[in-house]
Amino acid sequence: MKRISNILFILILSSSCAFLSKEKKEFDSLQKVTILQAKIFNGKIKKLNLIYPFQTIAAKLFCADREMALGALKNGLRQVFVSSDRHIETGDVICEYRFKVDEVDKSLVVAKLKIENSKYPLRKVRVPKKYAKLSDKAIARWKRETKTLDEVYKNAIVDRKLFQSKFKKPLASKITAIYGSKRVFNDMKHSWHSGIDFRARKKTKIPASNRGKVVLARHHFFTGKTIIIDHGLGIMTMYCHLSSLKVSEGDIVPLGEIIGISGNTGRSSAPHLHWGVRVNGNWVDGFSLLKEGI
Ligand SMILES: [Zn+2]
Repeated sequence: MKRISNILFILILSSSCAFLSKEKKEFDSLQKVTILQAKIFNGKIKKLNLIYPFQTIAAKLFCADREMALGALKNGLRQVFVSSDRHIETGDVICEYRFKVDEVDKSLVVAKLKIENSKYPLRKVRVPKKYAKLSDKAIARWKRETKTLDEVYKNAIVDRKLFQSKFKKPLASKITAIYGSKRVFNDMKHSWHSGIDFRARKKTKIPASNRGKVVLARHHFFTGKTIIIDHGLGIMTMYCHLSSLKVSEGDIVPLGEIIGISGNTGRSSAPHLHWGVRVNGNWVDGFSLLKEGI
């Protein structure tokens, strides 16, 4: 009798092993991952190569609860451009993989980035009345355009990168407004500057900062004639206040291609180029992208 129960026990044990899912087996044998420690400035990016310890488990990366696009797996590592929210000035950005094992949510912390506080100044800006106090018609237009932008951001290319070279700043001219400053428009509306303004005389040719897909080429209320290029891996660049658009939505443009001509359209007090850089859902200081390389 004892022998039979032993055999039964072994049978149950081996059959339960046989029914372990691939993910469960992998999860049970996961090695401890050393947590990468680094620093990041709020409003800037940090390029990291993170250990990716999974084979069959499909894990997504979240930093400060925001999904970050993961580059292709190479020697057990995946490249990620971690971006940090401009407005979160203290604490840590925790990066963790999130995945499911037999329908149960799991997570694994892989990096901890201490936030270093960038000091951003306050600037007063004067703009025509219609941009400081919006009419009902303007509000309706702005809402429509916000929806369009939300769609563009939602559909960001995250599973591949379209560029092979370093990002370049669009112009070598004087910076007339830095990234990140808090802004008060006509002593009323409070906002912040989410890009970098370059001096650009009218009719200056504006090149693409890197290879990518044109995902927006339209005239918007605030940003005037605007182009957004999706470069993949969660990275987009935006070019505003143009006088004309030289590319169309859907075009793939190489680095340096002339995509538009500078101007003074939208909420702009003088001809200039507003250059925005969006990485994994945060508008960041474009110079930090130039610095991090590829
Ligand atoms: Zn600007």
